[in-house]
Amino acid sequence: SEARLSRINKAETTCNYCAVGCRFDLYGRDGEVLGVRPADTDATPANDFSTCVKGKFGYDFANSDDRLETPLIKGDDGEFREATWDEALDLIHEKLTEVQEEHGQHSVAVTSSSKCTNEENYLNQKFARQVLGTPNVDNCARLCHSSTVTALKQTLGYGAMVNRINEDVGETDCYLITGSNTTESHPVLATRIKQNVRDGADMFVFDPRKVGIAEHADQYSRTKPGTDVAWINGMIRYIVREGLHDEEFIEERTKNFEELKEKVEPFTPEKVEELTGVPEAELENAARTIGEADTCIFGWAMGMTQHAHGTRNLLALTNLALVTGNLGKPRAGVSPFRGQNNVQGGGGDMGPAPHNLPGYQDPTDEEVLQKFEKEWGERPPDEVGLRLPEQFEEMKEGNLKGMFIMGENPVLSEPDIRDAEKSIGELDFLAVQDIFLTETAEFADVVLPAAAGPEKLGTQTNTERRIQFVRPAVEPPGDAKTDMDILVDLASRWGYDWASKYDGPSDVMDEISRLVPLYGGVSYERLEENPDGLQWPCEDEDDPGTPYLYEDGFNFDDGKARFVPADYAGPVELPDEEYPLMLSSGRVLYHWHTGTMTRRVEALMEQVPESFVTIHPEMAEQIGVVDGEYVRVTSRRGDITVKANVEDQSDPGVVFIPMHFVHGAVNELTQHELDPDSYIPEFKVTSVKVEPVGPD
Ligand code: SF4
Repeated sequence: SEARLSRINKAETTCNYCAVGCRFDLYGRDGEVLGVRPADTDATPANDFSTCVKGKFGYDFANSDDRLETPLIKGDDGEFREATWDEALDLIHEKLTEVQEEHGQHSVAVTSSSKCTNEENYLNQKFARQVLGTPNVDNCARLCHSSTVTALKQTLGYGAMVNRINEDVGETDCYLITGSNTTESHPVLATRIKQNVRDGADMFVFDPRKVGIAEHADQYSRTKPGTDVAWINGMIRYIVREGLHDEEFIEERTKNFEELKEKVEPFTPEKVEELTGVPEAELENAARTIGEADTCIFGWAMGMTQHAHGTRNLLALTNLALVTGNLGKPRAGVSPFRGQNNVQGGGGDMGPAPHNLPGYQDPTDEEVLQKFEKEWGERPPDEVGLRLPEQFEEMKEGNLKGMFIMGENPVLSEPDIRDAEKSIGELDFLAVQDIFLTETAEFADVVLPAAAGPEKLGTQTNTERRIQFVRPAVEPPGDAKTDMDILVDLASRWGYDWASKYDGPSDVMDEISRLVPLYGGVSYERLEENPDGLQWPCEDEDDPGTPYLYEDGFNFDDGKARFVPADYAGPVELPDEEYPLMLSSGRVLYHWHTGTMTRRVEALMEQVPESFVTIHPEMAEQIGVVDGEYVRVTSRRGDITVKANVEDQSDPGVVFIPMHFVHGAVNELTQHELDPDSYIPEFKVTSVKVEPVGPD
């Protein structure tokens, strides 16, 4: 009825942007998202009643006129035409089958999305592994915290933040924050930290850029890009030599300490200063305070992870946390600040990754394979597939011929995007499922219109492992469907009757809980009863969840954490005569990742309408550039033209460009170099030159 159609709908939901996981009420009416208000129930666990500018004003993207509303098929003339769902899904089935018949089962790959729900990511990896029979499934977590996950699994057992935002990060005695522009990337979390610092906690920030959070620190130390292992090893050396390490903890709860001690020995204060630029007094002041503090939180983001030696950075930092006994207790521990709303759950826990089945289970372990075979009725491929950067390499080589991408935009997010475009252009068939015709979707043969966050029911898992609901405030536009409904329809083309198997996302969660021990006690009934969500591991229905990890032991058979000493190696591409500056990339407060959502929100575009490069005033003067002028930034891969933002945020030799824009896309400049352990690319250090743009 008319009255029902115009009713205002309120959804108690979780933010669709970052992994802080703020909860609030989202209002919608007649397909239009109206806005966000603080939850009118109790204070919520991650954010009480606050939100940042993206959470509060960033939802207009869902109302955008250019939302995809019907499936599209590309004709021989290269133009898209509207199609029915049946036509589009039949064509995907026909073409992917053709590719597999001609080039083998593993000639296709699937990409999953941390923007989508846990249930959708679970189904997407199942679509890859069971329906297509390929182990080649990966997602954008490869490009953000894969090095974190690799390091934490090796040292502690789980690849995740160990503690809670409020009770631990918000209440600790001391912080070491490094490689995290917390105030812009995780604003509500940064507010917690700032409040606690105002209340007396110490804070040290080590970073090549004097990011916003550094303004609140007791000490900001400027580091040379890509040299983190050196100053962290230097701190460990100092702490051990001064007897500030936690001997009892090391003795009872860890292994390999002697090996670590030996490895950090060469990192004298002089050596550290030479490599990193951090003066001895600053290193020692931070190390002493951290060593003496009862509790310390070690927080980081992409500034630590996106390096060709990203895993080593995080091994070193975890060693420091272990040496000082800052694990397995409240108000302490290692806190990777995860990026996307559901990167922990959808990008990690649900296993859309070539080396992990859901729940980080080994795809080559016979017992695990049998468990999945029993549930699915078929055995998943028993091998490790191709990681995202490897998939692009194989496309270029002509070995990977078909691809299905759910909600990702690799044509902007991969390093060296001109090369990525060439690779994707080599595919025989590409299908993309998204909410907009993204830069990647432009390359597709078939495009499927998906529902956005405010239009679907499911769960997502925030950076503190908290599984929470997202609920719909509006219906998807036109013929768009949820990613889950699309996957169910798609699987039916291969003869899989998921429609009768899953009545809704709740049934998918029940299957996840049967297969993934970490989620063993999670169900929609329990989540309804626990509005604050459940933090994994939550192994059975009586398990209240785990607020902080490793209280009783680390996740290894012997319960002991491992020191894994980290060798130093500097950045791969160093400045030279031709490319004398070091470029770093990152986020700004008003935008999000490849910008597909935030570039469609007027309130956010008014704040930062275009790409820019931040240049130190001395350097600007040297190359003859004034603030606001356009400049050309060139690397060995390509060049872009962007506005100069003259500011003394970093050393004169370091410049910064945000990652959110198509024009002036920073990834036209970045390089392929990968961390050998996690395959994360070195986004954070690129050699460039900057020149004023001539009159033409
Ligand atoms: Fe959303 Fe993150 Fe902002 Fe919270 S801090 S409102 S989760 S973008």
